Amino acid sequence: MRDLIAKAFPRSWKQRARKILFRGRSRYCPVCKGSVRSFRPFGIPPRPDARCPICDSLERHRLAWLFFERKTNLFDGRPKRMLHFAAELEVASRLRRVAGLTYLTADVTDARAMVKMDITRIPYCDRSFDVIYCSHVLEHVSDDRVAMSELHRVLTPEGWAVFEVPISAPATIEDPSITDPAERERLFGQRDHVRRYGPDFEHRLRGAGFVVQCFTAQQLVGNEEATRFGLREEIFLCRKGEHRSSMGAVAP
Ligand SMILES: [Zn+2]
Repeated sequence: MRDLIAKAFPRSWKQRARKILFRGRSRYCPVCKGSVRSFRPFGIPPRPDARCPICDSLERHRLAWLFFERKTNLFDGRPKRMLHFAAELEVASRLRRVAGLTYLTADVTDARAMVKMDITRIPYCDRSFDVIYCSHVLEHVSDDRVAMSELHRVLTPEGWAVFEVPISAPATIEDPSITDPAERERLFGQRDHVRRYGPDFEHRLRGAGFVVQCFTAQQLVGNEEATRFGLREEIFLCRKGEHRSSMGAVAP
């Protein structure tokens, strides 16, 4: 039934219909460049102003897209190899079209990913990627420090990586002995989360050898635009210590 509905009403039609339904100017989605009256609630419990009614992007997708546009060299047209973990459909479809970008999506289970990959055992040589994007992945990974080291290994010396994770504790809490999904949900916020991160997430990235800069949505665009674009959370920008200068503007 769902397939029949999908065939009868292609995604582009739905997006056009939502553009009309949500017509307005108080919110703007940097991913699909759409102006809307409001974003839709999303999550449990529902967060207001979360999901773009046109492209389905969430707060973190819009924050990352703005970050790519304003603080990185992603769109300068020069050849780059990008590795994107757990890619979301709308963001991936746009990144695939970026000029100069050799784009690879990876996931440990999702069959839609271009490469099936365990983030703690990345099957690529050292210095294989110029850009890495890893959003809301590490809170699912048992040995996140190994994953960070692997990502550091496959990043080129002049490359950069962007991380996003939910920061929801004063300090990171984890307990590998807890495997019961209901208990994980109670303690870590979701049935497939293995920890809650605190602001010390940044120190773990440093422990893997990265030079880290953290940008909140408000630091990136100011309070007014953070509200207008429906942004939350922070971006962690990581580079290798030995090479810090070849990226676009990175000062906060
Ligand atoms: Zn959108």
